[in-house]
This record gives sequence, structure tokens and C-alpha cells, in this order.
Amino acid sequence: MSLDTSRTGSRPGRVTAHDARQRLEHARNSRMAQLQALDATGQSAEDHLMSAQADAIRRVLEEIDEAFARIDACTYGTCLGCSKPIPAERLEILPYTRYCVACQSRAAA
Ligand SMILES: [Zn+2]
Repeated sequence: MSLDTSRTGSRPGRVTAHDARQRLEHARNSRMAQLQALDATGQSAEDHLMSAQADAIRRVLEEIDEAFARIDACTYGTCLGCSKPIPAERLEILPYTRYCVACQSRAAA
């Protein structure tokens, strides 16, 4: 473990590595369950809507993996766009997000 969790005391509201991992694991488990449910129908390869859904879930799973890597690299919670901390409230809703709200909307525009 490379993260020094004792430092987080000076940053109220800052997401700890422990919390982040728990949220990411939860997000990953629910996406995996969704994928399995899609697979269980047995017709996902034929159905374009279903395969689009499965692709979207797989993309989120990749983002979750990247978020785990950022925890290991101690860059988790830092916006890749502006290098500012992503607000804890946003990380609670979207634990695998790479951008703050401003950069996300700029990227989507
Ligand atoms: Zn940003």
C-alpha cells in the first residue's frame, strides 16, 4: 500500500483510497452482473441494442480498471483535464470518473 491515509485528515471531504476502492468494487460488481444478465439471454450477438449496451458496460469496466490503477499511482481523484481535485460528492456518484464537472462538460461539448 503506497497511499498514506493519515494525510487525509487535513482534507475534509477528501475521498480515501479505502472508500474509493470500495465504491469501485461495488460499481464493478454491478456492471459485471449487468453483463452476465445480458449474456444470459443468449441473443446478445444478434441484438444490436443489447450489444451496444454490453459495449457501454465494458467501457465502464475499463474506466473502473483505470481508476484502480490511478489509486495505485496516487493520482485518483485528480482531474485529467485541469489537474484539480475532483469534488468528493462527484466521486461518490461516479467513482471512476476521470474529469471534474467543468472538464467533462467541455469534453462532451
Ligand atoms: Zn477538470
